[in-house]
Amino acid sequence: MYRTHTNGELRIENVNNEVTLCGWVQKSRDLGAMTFVDLRDRYGITQLVFGEDQSELAKSLGREDVIQVSGNVIERESKNTTIPTGEIEITVNKLTILNKSKVPPFTIEDETDGGEELRMQYRYLDLRRNPLQNNLKLRHQLSIEIRKYLDSINFFEIETPYLIKSTPEGARDFVVPSRMNPNQFYALPQSPQTFKQLLMVSGFDRYYQIVRCFRDEDLRADRQPEFTQIDCEMAFVEQEDVFNTFEGMMTYLFKKVKGIDLTEFPRMDYATAIEKYGSDKPDIRFGMTFNYINEETQNKGFNVFDQSEVVIAIVAKDCSTYTRKELDKLTDFVRRPQVGAKGMVYVKCNEDGTFKSSVDKFYSQEDLKIWANKCGAEAGDLILVLSGDKAATQNQMNVLRLHLGDELGLRNPNEYAPLWVYDFPLLEWDEETKRYHAMHHPFTSPKPEDMKLLDTDPGNVRANAYDMVLNGVEIGGGSIRIHDREVQSTMFDHLGFTKEEAQAQFGFLMNAFEYGAPPHGGIALGFDRLCALFGGQETIRDFIAFPKNNGGRDVMIDSPSPISSEQLDELNIDLKVKEEL
Ligand code: ASP
Repeated sequence: MYRTHTNGELRIENVNNEVTLCGWVQKSRDLGAMTFVDLRDRYGITQLVFGEDQSELAKSLGREDVIQVSGNVIERESKNTTIPTGEIEITVNKLTILNKSKVPPFTIEDETDGGEELRMQYRYLDLRRNPLQNNLKLRHQLSIEIRKYLDSINFFEIETPYLIKSTPEGARDFVVPSRMNPNQFYALPQSPQTFKQLLMVSGFDRYYQIVRCFRDEDLRADRQPEFTQIDCEMAFVEQEDVFNTFEGMMTYLFKKVKGIDLTEFPRMDYATAIEKYGSDKPDIRFGMTFNYINEETQNKGFNVFDQSEVVIAIVAKDCSTYTRKELDKLTDFVRRPQVGAKGMVYVKCNEDGTFKSSVDKFYSQEDLKIWANKCGAEAGDLILVLSGDKAATQNQMNVLRLHLGDELGLRNPNEYAPLWVYDFPLLEWDEETKRYHAMHHPFTSPKPEDMKLLDTDPGNVRANAYDMVLNGVEIGGGSIRIHDREVQSTMFDHLGFTKEEAQAQFGFLMNAFEYGAPPHGGIALGFDRLCALFGGQETIRDFIAFPKNNGGRDVMIDSPSPISSEQLDELNIDLKVKEEL
């Protein structure tokens, strides 16, 4: 037997026990006659004491050596109250070095000295550190609780294939050449979308899967080419049923894993979200909603506002004391090319009831008072105004609002504000291809009452589609699906598919709809992001055991990489011919 206990287990009650422990040398302190060693494993740290007779060997121990020790549990003289094993230590009478370690390229500590690239290269060492151990533990707990919850309400976990053919969900597919079918390729699923719908046709009624999805997108920060979704589908449901089921799941997870009661789960339609927050994933932990003040500001001789489609104001509470410098910084912020505003107007609502604005030349105290009233600003507040084209200005104001929310400490990471956003547009105009694309995916059902607009005003057709948002982050999305062959076929027409293309790519699904497909709908939640949110962190990478870097590479195994010409031959891939072409 390698060990009798783990390094997080022994307590004062164990004093006088003879124990054997295994683990890694965290650090050692040589005090002459005695050597102290912190022995670490997944469960914790236990202090070892080596007397003079052992000291030679003990002194030879280096960081991260793997050792086995036997000895006696004794009460510590100076106790360490910061760790659960801090009341005891082990007087070692037998030490076995199981495996020596080279000096690790960075310190295995909570705050390490290793840079990102180095830690990725030695991911297995990085994963020894507590923060990462805790993250993966949290991930494990979440996956267990998700399964428990879904199982308790009759969901079946069913696996769907990884080698499939493309489903258009907006991104590019990763493809896998087929050796046995020369010049043919599988695609890795961007999601199990069509399969889960087919499972509803098969009568499984409630399906879920914690499943890897693959999207060959240009990598933005914090995107992974392979990521994990909690993918779900239900038959005989309306949007309301999906909402209830999955807010139930979130409430359960928050309670179980974080001990937090999620008391509210509000809903907001897409149009309102854009109008009030300029975002389809508003952070509703704080107010600062948009006020449209065209009427109050236009036709007073200030050209910038007069020429604008919208004039939008937000109120920063108690910020009238902002200095010139602080206001200039905000102006610079919104003018950055990433935000793109031309300028920013401010109005300070002074404590004495007067106003000071950056447009005093054009507006009287009376005028400014009217703005303040419209925005609900009080003495001591600061009004910030952006103007221009509607969509662009809403977008810029969203960025400014979130920035101020951060600066003013209104985005408390320990507060959780979930939200459903629903009634998304069905279609989205794509300038590049000069075509409408499905905003969610082509299987999303239009709202029945909007069907009549499909031919005349496609951009304004709303879908039975929804997102789950938490603290301004989209954590999932789904829809009620089309389950009627004719409607699905019409949808493909509108998306610019010829009948032949639609049949070739999605014939299997449309055919299935002819054999008694039940009404159905579902959702997929981003599992990596959910873990990061539960862990109170922004990046998903440290909640994935072996993630890719920003360039989509695994620097540890050095992938992607070339393959041998024999492999290429087997796959009928002739790179040379390709090059000549
Ligand atoms: N397949 C969709 C996605 O991955 C989710 C869904 O509609 O259920 O976004």
